[in-house]
Order: sequence, then structure tokens, then C-alpha cells
Amino acid sequence: MSTVLVSGAGIGGPALAYWLARHGLDVTIVERARGPRRGGQAVDLRGAAVTVAERMGILEQVLAKRTHMLGMAMVDRDGNEIMRTTERTVSGGRLDGDDVEIMRDDLVAIVTRAAGDTEVIYDDSITALEQDAGGVDVTFERGGRRRFDYVVGADGLHSNVRALAFGDESRFIRHLGMYVSIYSAPNFLGLDSWQVWHREGDAGYGVYSAPGNVTMRVNAGFGAEQPIAYDHRDVEAQKRLVEEHCSPLGWETPRLMKAMWEADDFYFDAMAQIHMDRWSTGRVALLGDAGYCASPLSGQGSSLAMVGAYVLAQELGADRQGAFDRYEERMRPFVRLNQELAMENPGGGASDESVRRAATAISLDR
Ligand SMILES: Cc1cc2nc3c(=O)[nH]c(=O)nc-3n(C[C@H](O)[C@H](O)[C@H](O)COP(=O)(O)OP(=O)(O)OC[C@H]3O[C@@H](n4cnc5c(N)ncnc54)[C@H](O)[C@@H]3O)c2cc1C
Repeated sequence: MSTVLVSGAGIGGPALAYWLARHGLDVTIVERARGPRRGGQAVDLRGAAVTVAERMGILEQVLAKRTHMLGMAMVDRDGNEIMRTTERTVSGGRLDGDDVEIMRDDLVAIVTRAAGDTEVIYDDSITALEQDAGGVDVTFERGGRRRFDYVVGADGLHSNVRALAFGDESRFIRHLGMYVSIYSAPNFLGLDSWQVWHREGDAGYGVYSAPGNVTMRVNAGFGAEQPIAYDHRDVEAQKRLVEEHCSPLGWETPRLMKAMWEADDFYFDAMAQIHMDRWSTGRVALLGDAGYCASPLSGQGSSLAMVGAYVLAQELGADRQGAFDRYEERMRPFVRLNQELAMENPGGGASDESVRRAATAISLDR
């Protein structure tokens, strides 16, 4: 039985583990966090990704957790409503379509459960990869060395596997000139399945109730022409950056900044994309954000990871020889169209037609 080590238990990693196990491969996941990571905003599953969820047998669970947003409003710095719509939300596109909007951590929990008894090593990370014709020797941060037939990096925008196997992130990352933070706060605004956004200049935030309406998710972001150097593990420093850029905003800023300092699920990252000529080298391949992040501006990050996991496992299952090349060949046009969505109308969202076209631009059958 072929063995595969997957780095990252986000969305792509466990989805890949599910499908590889179905194709008879033996999978181990290593995840840097101490357990499944909480937090993140609502994400969408669309088009081909909904079909993948259906084929995984998790669509019902996903639908049971959908956010059921009713609409959104925009307010000025004094809290006066200046726009309202029940047709769409900022984070989730149209409300009358077939897209499924779900909180990222609910989706992570569902795909992780689906991966069943896959071995998951939490609180560890890969420090070295050495491959030869027969396999890959992997060294782990917390000690230990193991050999696998294949290694897949599903470890996000700042992929560790990518850095070890392909080189420094700076060669592949394209900044889109924005930073975004997401965290939970008590629902002190009493929002009921509703989003409110406030923006001044190139900074702003949106708040919306999480399912159950007990808490809200806050999405606070700001523009930056040049990439900002910061430590990806230093959460305090990241909170200081958000405070520095967002505290001059009006409306509910003081209460939202206070909630940010109390939040234990704070997430912060650059809006950025990853562009690479190859997603594999020898026995090592990349999946999802690690290889082809489209950025939250595309609204397609989770869908790309779900579909990528399906196609990669399908190809490895069919014939190990040339599997990574075929995965890449099938995924390239799909990835390109979805990455382009982020550029179509930055900040305003791509047209419904472009989104629909991009979300379905791949065949799931070989
Ligand atoms: C906490 C969090 C919140 C997010 N919030 C949003 C959001 O609100 N909106 C949005 O559009 N996108 C968000 N994203 C990104 C979004 O999840 C991805 O675009 C999409 O789901 C693609 O999935 P992925 O599996 O490729 O990557 P991700 O979902 O990013 O998962 C990558 C996983 O790899 C793990 N990892 C990182 N480094 C290592 C390492 N060295 N060793 C082992 N594991 C490692 C991470 O902890 C994470 O669990 C978020 C990501 C994270 C981690």
C-alpha cells in the first residue's frame, strides 16, 4: 500500500486524506496547530466543489451548517445606514443561488470527521524532506524521521512544504495590496443572520452573526501598497497592526478593537495569490492555497482545495506513474479562471456570470 504524508489539516488536507483512503492509499496528516483550527469567516462552496462534497457524502452535513444570511447593510461613521440589500452579502455572493455558504471552521470539522481514522499528528511540522527514486525521508520538528512514498503540502498560503521543496515564498507570492483579520466577538449588536459593513478610505470592517447569533465574526482589513514584514506566529504584533490601521474608523470601532484583543481565534493574513510553474517536484506535490491560492477576494479558496483534493486523489488512485502531471494538467485552467476572479473587480467582487463559469470549469470525471 502506498503511503502519503499530507502537511496541513485545513480543508484540502483532510479532503485529500478521505479520497486517498478511498483509492486504497495509507495517509498520515501532520498539522502545526494543537487541534483543528477555529476561526475564519464564512466561505463558499460552489459548482464543482458542491459535487465533490456530494460525492464525499458530506453535502447534507454542509447544508445543515449553512449560514442562512438574510442580507447586508453599509453604515457611515455615525452608524447611519447608507445601503441595504437582501440580494447578496459581501462575503458570500448572491443569496438566491446554489452556492453554499458555511463558516470555515464548520467546514474544517466536517471534512476532518469525513477523513475518519486517518492518523493525524497535531502540534508538529516537517523540517526536512529528502527524496530519492523510491520515496521521501521526512524529518519532523518534534523529532523522528519517517519515510513515505509521497508528500503533499496542503499547508496554506505560507506553505512549509513549498518552502522546503520549491524555495522561498517570495518567488511565488503576489500581494494584492490588502491585509485582513478575522475574529469572533460577542454579538453585542444583536445581529440576526445579517451583515453590516463600514468602510473609510482603504480601511474598513464587516460584522455578521455566526450561526446561532450568539457570537459575531469580525472581518477588519486595510490596504497597504507594499507588503508589510511581520512574524506569522506573533499574534500580538498582528493585532497591533490591525489596531494601528483600523482604530481611526468610526461606528463601532472601540468595542470591536476591544473584542479583538480578547479574541482567541484571531486570524490575520495578506490578501495574496500563489503562482507557480509547477505544483510538483518528484514525489512531492502541492494542494490548495499552498500551490495556487486565489485569495479570499476570489471567494473560491475552499472550492479550489476541495476540487484539487478530489482530482489529485483520483489521479494517484488511477495510476501512480505521471499522476502529478495529470493532476496539474486538469487543474491548471480551473485554477487560472478562479485566480482571475480576484482581479476582475478587487473589493467589489467578480460578476455572477464569471463566478459561475469559473466554479464549474472542470470535469470531475477522467
Ligand atoms: C485559521 C484560518 C482562517 C482562515 N480564514 C479564512 C477566511 O476567513 N476567509 C477565506 O477566504 N479564507 C480563509 N482562510 C484560508 C482558507 O481556509 C483557504 O483559502 C482554503 O480553505 C484553502 O484550504 P487549504 O486547505 O489549502 O488551506 P488552509 O485552510 O489555510 O489550511 C492550511 C492548514 O495547514 C496548517 N499548516 C500551516 N503551516 C503548517 C506546517 N508548517 N505544518 C503543518 N501544518 C501547517 C494550518 O494550520 C492549516 O490548518 C483561513 C485559513 C486559516 C488557517
